[in-house]
Amino acid sequence: MTELDRIFELKKEMGDDLIILAHHYQSDDIVKAADFTGDSLKLAQYAQQNKRARYIVFCGVYFMSETADILTEDDQIILQPSIIAGCPMADMADMEQAERAWDIITAELGCDIVPITYVNSKAEVKAFCGRKGGTTVTSGNAAKVVKWGLDQNKVILFLPDQNLGRNTAYDLGIPLDNMAEYDPKTETLEYSCDKKDVKIVLWKGYCHVHHKITVKHIEAARKAHPNAKVIVHPECQFEIAQAADGKGSTEYIINQVRNGEKGSKWIIGTEHNLVKRLKDSFEDKEVYILDTSSVCTNMNRTTVQNLLETLEDIKKGNFEKRVTVDKSIAADAVKSLETMLSLV
Ligand code: SF4
Repeated sequence: MTELDRIFELKKEMGDDLIILAHHYQSDDIVKAADFTGDSLKLAQYAQQNKRARYIVFCGVYFMSETADILTEDDQIILQPSIIAGCPMADMADMEQAERAWDIITAELGCDIVPITYVNSKAEVKAFCGRKGGTTVTSGNAAKVVKWGLDQNKVILFLPDQNLGRNTAYDLGIPLDNMAEYDPKTETLEYSCDKKDVKIVLWKGYCHVHHKITVKHIEAARKAHPNAKVIVHPECQFEIAQAADGKGSTEYIINQVRNGEKGSKWIIGTEHNLVKRLKDSFEDKEVYILDTSSVCTNMNRTTVQNLLETLEDIKKGNFEKRVTVDKSIAADAVKSLETMLSLV
């Protein structure tokens, strides 16, 4: 019996008590074993709605499991097959830094701020946003959520991903000159307009997988595959988003290829597992990766072996791989998540 066969056997045994969730960036075998696959938004909604499963095994990275724990009932147990799978971008902001930034920005700009954190952030940063009347955001709902922030006539503090913040605000009509940057390492705020004209402050964090894609990659790909459409994730830098034919969440990327005409060609700037799966799933289309080095090491820490180990552990009552969020943090973090979920 293969490890995957044993996983299916254990799933059958545990029935409704068990749910396996997987992010789109997981490998094919993990996606096969999962009950539900989605982007951060869909996975958060799914976790919130599922009240039946006692055990939720989250194949993704740490902030996703934390979000699932915040949104589920106290008696539901969240487990992560590779407990060390984190997100370097989420680690670029913590609560202390956010509190400090708040003081520095309000003192400098003399205005009211509404904080919006990408869900790719620590639970404590989500809690900071909840306490300050802010919210969370995903790449799938960024336009709606940032518009909500702009409509409050306050300056948005967008963290930790500067690229998603910049790309989204620009699409909503905010010129680059009206965007400030905050560097948490040097605790400095930079802007080129009058301080009263700053509309959004971008935290200088980024996802290394997407941030290192360059315009040269696009030029080379277009040369190699003329007539192909280039679509990228909004965690890519502004110049890349502008040079591409389209940008959006992993769900957007999947739908573009799925709904594309037979024979259409696609060059995709995001994590390689998803691009490979699209290539294999839509054989009537041509799918290429924009940058072959787009690999998220952390997403790839989940393996069939450690997933199986997690299920065997559940059977033994061993919850070493459980992810929990401190109740006081969760109480504030849930406010920011619920605000977001009420907007979409
Ligand atoms: S792809 Fe980027 S944002 Fe997503 S988990 Fe990996 S490092 Fe974090």
